[in-house]
Amino acid sequence: MDSKNVTQLRTKLMRLARSLRVCVIPENADLEKPQSWRDDEVLRGDHLVKRRRLVLLTPKCSSASCLMCPLPNEAWDNSRRVISAAQIIKQFDSCFGHSTDESRQMVTIYTNGNFFADNEIPPLVRQHIYEYNRFHAG
Ligand code: SF4
Repeated sequence: MDSKNVTQLRTKLMRLARSLRVCVIPENADLEKPQSWRDDEVLRGDHLVKRRRLVLLTPKCSSASCLMCPLPNEAWDNSRRVISAAQIIKQFDSCFGHSTDESRQMVTIYTNGNFFADNEIPPLVRQHIYEYNRFHAG
């Protein structure tokens, strides 16, 4: 396949991906609340550890053509109104300060795409999360 065909294929895939990415999050969603958080236990090595599992509501995955998962549809669409770093930080903070905080040994954070992509998760948010975990590691 020559480079022109590769470019055409990429363009088609990008159009297909965009047509499949339809946001299912209500327009009036509270952008300061995570999609969910819960405590559970996961196997680490040969023993169970107590985990807090967070799912933050974040902008959709910015990959142009990936079709592998439904996360972009379960993400916030910034074309409606832009979610701010402060709102995502509030989501994260709201998952702590509970009675079971002391017993957790691990935190798992899910987003609606790539945690390390600046156009999805502003660096300020990552910095806040890193600082939080440095001072509150269980
Ligand atoms: S989150 Fe990952 S797997 Fe899902 S569409 Fe984006 S790049 Fe693909």
